[in-house]
Amino acid sequence: MSSLGYTCSKHFEGYPCCHRQWKHPGHCRYVHGYSRSFTIWFSAQELDPYGFVVDFSSLSPLEKKLREHFDHTFLVNEDDPLLSDWKRLHSQGALDLRVMKNVGLESTAELVWKWINEILLDRDSGRTCSWRVEARENGANAAYFEQIPDWFEKSHDKKKDSAKSKMPL
Ligand SMILES: [Zn+2]
Repeated sequence: MSSLGYTCSKHFEGYPCCHRQWKHPGHCRYVHGYSRSFTIWFSAQELDPYGFVVDFSSLSPLEKKLREHFDHTFLVNEDDPLLSDWKRLHSQGALDLRVMKNVGLESTAELVWKWINEILLDRDSGRTCSWRVEARENGANAAYFEQIPDWFEKSHDKKKDSAKSKMPL
């Protein structure tokens, strides 16, 4: 088990979207919405040539993904029984549908953790990772996904190995 080393975080906000949890017995089964925001924690054992863990000006690929998925969109679970109705409304231009395994903040945090780590592994070959993601829907409610990717630990446990082969997430 390796330590995290240097860490930093970056906040992303301004993603108005709505969703519903169709199985929920209470009011969460009704379509309702929030402006979602995300905080991402990064780690590196070694800094880049500028002294950064991650250059914040280089995160536009993630911002693009967040915008595509959460900006003025309607999120539903893939097993929502009204899926065909939502798809019809999407094709009629009434909503911008995104189908997810689960629209909840916990699963959203995990999804964003996967996205950012794919980007980081591809770009930094294991030097950097994200080990924590917060998905927030308002001042009171947030959920987190925390995990150090397997390949991050391997990349500095075996730093001397010149193997640059990409390890899967
Ligand atoms: Zn709710």
